[in-house]
Parts: sequence; structure tokens; C-alpha cells
Amino acid sequence: MQTVLYFDICALPIFLIIILTVLIRKMTRGITNRLFITLIIILSFMTLSDITLELSLRQLPADGLRIFTATLSAYIYYTTQSFAMLGYYFFSFAVTGTWFRVRLNKIKMMICAPFVLLMLILLTNPFTGAAFTVEAETGYARGFLIWVIYAITLLYSGAATLYIVHLRRYMSKTKTLSLMSLSILIVGAVVFQFFYPQYLVETIAAAFSCLLIVLFVLRPEEITDASVGSLSLFAYRRELKKVLDMKRRVQIAVVDFINAKQLYYYLGEERYCAYLAQIIKQIETIFVREHVFCDIYFEQPGYIYVIIENMEFDVEDCVRRVYGDMVRSSEKAVSSGERLIPRVCCISVPDDINDFEEIIRLGHEFSTQLRGDCLYTKASDIVASRDYGIMSHMDLILNRAIAEHKFRIYYQPIYSVAHGRFISAEALIRLIDDEYGFVSPGIFIPAAERKGVILPIGDFVLEDVHRFISENDLDKLGLEYIEVNLSVMQCLQEELPAKLAMLGEKYGVSPDKVNLEITETTSADIGAGIMDNNLEMLSGMGYTFSLDDFGTGYSNMQRVSRLPLKIIKLDKSLVDDMQSPDGLSIMRNTVKMMRDIDKELVAEGVETEENLQCLEELGCHFIQGYYFSKPLPEDEFVEFLKKHNKVTA
Ligand code: C2E
Ligand code: MG
Ligand code: MG
Repeated sequence: MQTVLYFDICALPIFLIIILTVLIRKMTRGITNRLFITLIIILSFMTLSDITLELSLRQLPADGLRIFTATLSAYIYYTTQSFAMLGYYFFSFAVTGTWFRVRLNKIKMMICAPFVLLMLILLTNPFTGAAFTVEAETGYARGFLIWVIYAITLLYSGAATLYIVHLRRYMSKTKTLSLMSLSILIVGAVVFQFFYPQYLVETIAAAFSCLLIVLFVLRPEEITDASVGSLSLFAYRRELKKVLDMKRRVQIAVVDFINAKQLYYYLGEERYCAYLAQIIKQIETIFVREHVFCDIYFEQPGYIYVIIENMEFDVEDCVRRVYGDMVRSSEKAVSSGERLIPRVCCISVPDDINDFEEIIRLGHEFSTQLRGDCLYTKASDIVASRDYGIMSHMDLILNRAIAEHKFRIYYQPIYSVAHGRFISAEALIRLIDDEYGFVSPGIFIPAAERKGVILPIGDFVLEDVHRFISENDLDKLGLEYIEVNLSVMQCLQEELPAKLAMLGEKYGVSPDKVNLEITETTSADIGAGIMDNNLEMLSGMGYTFSLDDFGTGYSNMQRVSRLPLKIIKLDKSLVDDMQSPDGLSIMRNTVKMMRDIDKELVAEGVETEENLQCLEELGCHFIQGYYFSKPLPEDEFVEFLKKHNKVTA
């Protein structure tokens, strides 16, 4: 019986194309990719041996060489076939993200048992002829145990298919079907070949399904971050969902490079990414050296997540060693000594936290809760802190505050050096929650911005400040205007001018009594558009603007000079830095520059007499800070003014 070789011959170039695709797309990292490459190489050898077996039987003279070549080819064929099926079964674990299961010894032994039986049959075959025989005259003939080999092949395919079906909800339909195609096509081909041995269709079936896998399953662009070449945030979120769903126990080391943005600008994108890629490589090397199984994920601009399967692994010790290496190597890589500053948090899942959103949020926020230069923390310590309780119940706290009108406005007096008294004040929102007590606006304002509930809060602030102005005669109190903080979302509201006009009319408050504070991020991030229109319209109506927190962001001085800003508020950090000669020089020049472009200056966060005197000497117009007063409730603020502004109401 002449066998048809064309199928095998066609399969070979397909495998070659797949290997090239995998290499060109750099799909060589990670267990899934490595198993897939191994599988393709094994299948290529299987195809080759199938061809040489047939050709030697057909072409070579019936002598010793023919027997030798055919026997060797048959052994290679059956061995590679067995390895391919085992590899495919392992691949089904890796590709579904459940590789951790294979690492259990019990499971490994169960998976490998049929394979060992296969190998025994093949190893004893020279004496028993149980699998096949090759004779000079009769050629190749199947042995009496050949069905065992086929049965085990079917067993592996069936098991892999069932496993993929079992985990289908974690994958898209296309991915599930493409993965299943491998077993369906191969099983179909094996069964077909069992009955029609002259048609060698098994390898072409495998080649087609591998093609489907490359096209629809292994999509590196979905799960890798091209900038540093590691797994992406998308892949991290997907893996984390799986970890929680399957109730796996893992440690997650989150690295937050707190100065990532600055270094990105400083080094430029290319050098920054190369530097990060090098750090990720170092982390990888350490884990490989310690034989710890882990995946490393990256999120722009500077978060690294490492999911570690081994609960006994000492993350803190590893962090300190990697940090040491990082410091040494960055000194070589980054000439000026500028380097990424990491903060690391280790989360034990599910012991510390078992909620998806909370784990993601903790990763982004833990570093804000660390003091000074603390490098490492455990999530359990953060979770126990009061701020964390507030953060994780922020939805409830904000909804309750909005529904039950819990917000209050406090006023912090602002001192005028020229007048020698307080001529304005900043309205600062306060929230006392029944359960959590005082909640800082520094925490709930950004949270409200993220959750999209900042507008009703901003509306309340504007309304309450207007009410306050209408109920108190500012002139008599010695006040010229009240400063109100505007959030980014408010600045982007098209109806903001109309809203303010309506409030002004309702409370009989003229625009010159209200000064609106915008932040550097507001003015820098959002270029033109609604924001600029709003500022222009509002300043046309008579409202004035302050630029808040100057010195904390990246100031575009051209833009600062173009915006209709009356006042620049120098951030507390600039004031605090005046202790050092450099800081003092920065402050002196900032004040001079701002005065040159006709801006009025408020120094924020002034706490000491020394700072006050220094700022007065430098020519700062207004002073705000605990030195004079903390923000006060409405009635105490009025009393304060009556006392200190020597005004009789
Ligand atoms: P900000 O607008 O820069 O307000 C100044 C902050 O510095 C206030 O913090 C104030 O209490 C604090 N401060 C003033 N003097 C001193 C001092 O001498 N020492 C120290 N350590 N701190 C001082 P607060 O009230 O916690 O507000 C934090 C931030 O929350 C504000 O920073 C502002 O960005 C935001 N915020 C507050 N109220 C509102 C509001 O009504 N609307 C909006 N959108 N944001 C607000
Ligand atoms: Mg402010
Ligand atoms: Mg400020």
C-alpha cells in the first residue's frame, strides 16, 4: 500500500512559517510561548520523521540501511508524537493561565503516567515488536500494542479539550475554538489515519490548528507592553481576576516608582524604557535564580506587578537585594545619578485583600500612605490604617455626604502685607463622617473627581460661599474677596459661567467678590477649548483667578502669562524649601519673575515667623498659613476677622 506523502510535505513549510512568525513577533518569553515553540519544533520533527520513514521504505534498497533508516524514523516519529501530545496538554494549562496547577507534584505525576507507559512500549519495542516492526521484505508493520499508543494520544487530546472547555469563561469564543481545534483536528486525523493508514493527514491537521493558535490565541500585542517588553496591565488584570476566581493563594509585589513621570521627561522615552526594561530583567533574573515561579507585569508610567506563586518566598528580602542591584547598575546607566525611586507593597491574596478593584486601587495608592523614604510595606499594615478604611469606603462616605448634606465650608484668612490685615480668605471644604470622623479634602476631592461626583460637591461649595458673602458684609469685615477652589471638571463645564451668573444674581453677589482658584494641572493638561473659553468669559464678567499650588507641577510659563490670572499661589513645598540656600534662591527669583509679569503672590502654608519675615522681605504680597490661622468654621472666622481686622460690625 503506497502512502500519500503530500500532506506531510505541505505541513513542513507551515511549521516553518509559524516558527518565523513567532520569532519575528518576539513571542519567545513566558511559559505559554516557550511551550508553543517547543510544540512546533517537536511537530516539525514528527513530520520530518514521517516523511523519512516513508521515503526510506519506498526508495532505499531492501537491505540493512533501509531497515536502519526506517526503524530510526519510526522511533523518532512515535517519540515526537508522544511528546507532542504531552506538550499540548501542558500547553492547555499554560495558555489558560493555570500553569500553577501543573507544578503540583501529584498532578505532574498523573499527567506524565500515560506518557511513561508510552515510552515503556517504545523502549521495549526492539524486543517485543509491540508497537511496530520494520522488516527488509515486509517493510513497516504495526504491532499488537499500537492501539495503546493511539488511545493515549486520544486521551491527552481529550483531556486537554475538556480542560479548555472547563475554563472557557476566561477566554473569548474565538480563542476557545482555536485552542480546541488542535485536539479536534488531530483526533479526527488520528482516527482517520487508524482506518486509512495510507493517508498521513495527522501532521497537516496539527499544522492548521497551530496556525489558528498563532493567529487567534497567542496575541502578544494584547498582553505585552511593547515599550518595555514585559506583560501588560491588561494581562495583569486578567490574571488577577483568574487568581481570585480560582481562589488561588499568591503574593503580589507591587512596585510603584514614585518619580517615574519626572524621570520619563528627564531621560526621554527611549532611555527611560530601556532603563525600565533593564530593571525588569534584573527582577526576572533574581526570581529565576531563586527558582521562584512568577510573572512580571508593567503599567505606564512606572508600576511593576509581580505575581508570585510561592507563599513562602521572602518578598522583602528580595526587594532589598534588587534595590541594591538597581542602585549600583543605575549609576552606570544613568550618568547623573538620577534613578527611579521605588516603593514596594506586598499583598497576600486572598489573606490581605480578596477584592479585585481593591487590589488594583491599593497598587496605585499605597505609596501615598508611606512615610519618608520607607521602601517596603506589607498590605496588611496599610489595610489596618484609618486612611485605608476611609479610602476603601469612599463610595459610601461620598454618597452619604451628598445625600445627607454633610459638607461644610471653612475659611482660612489670608493676610495682606501691604494692608497689614486680612483682606481675603480661602474657602476650604470639610467633611465629618458619622462613622469615620474627619475626612481630608486632600483624599475625598481626588476620589470624587475619579468617581465623577465632584460636580454636585463643587456646586455646593459655590452656592455656600455665595450665601456666606450675601449674609456677611465683606467690606465691613475688611475682606475684598473669597477664594474658591475649582476642580478640573468644573473648569471644563460649559455651563460654569451661566451657573456663576445665576448664583451672583440669586445672592446679590458681584463677581469681584469671588476669586476662582485653578490648579497647575488644570491649566497645563487641558490645552485650549472649553477651559480657555470659560476663563475668558468669566474674567470678562469680572471674576478673577488664582493659580493654586504653583511649584508642584510642570509650569508652562508662557501659558501662565497668557491665562487671565491675577494671583499666583506659591505652594507650601516652596515655602518649606526656603530653609535651604537653593530653596531661598528659587523663591526669591520666582517672586521677582511673577512680580515682573504683574502677578500678585500668595504664599501658602506659612507656619513660622521666620518664613513670614522672609516672604515679606522678598516682596510676597499675601500670606496664608497656620501662622495666622487654620481654616475656621464660618462663625469663628467672622469672629476672627472682627478681632484681628479691628472692624466693628
Ligand atoms: P489647597 O487649595 O492648596 O488648600 C490649601 C491647603 O493647605 C488646605 O488644606 C489648608 O488647610 C492647608 N494649609 C493652609 N495653611 C497651612 C499651613 O500652614 N500648614 C499646613 N500643613 N497646611 C496648611 P485642606 O483644607 O486639607 O485642602 C487640601 C486640598 O483639597 C486643597 O489644597 C484643595 O486642592 C482641595 N480642596 C479643599 N477644598 C476644596 C473645594 O472646596 N473644592 C475643590 N475642588 N478642592 C478643594
Ligand atoms: Mg486652594
Ligand atoms: Mg494650594
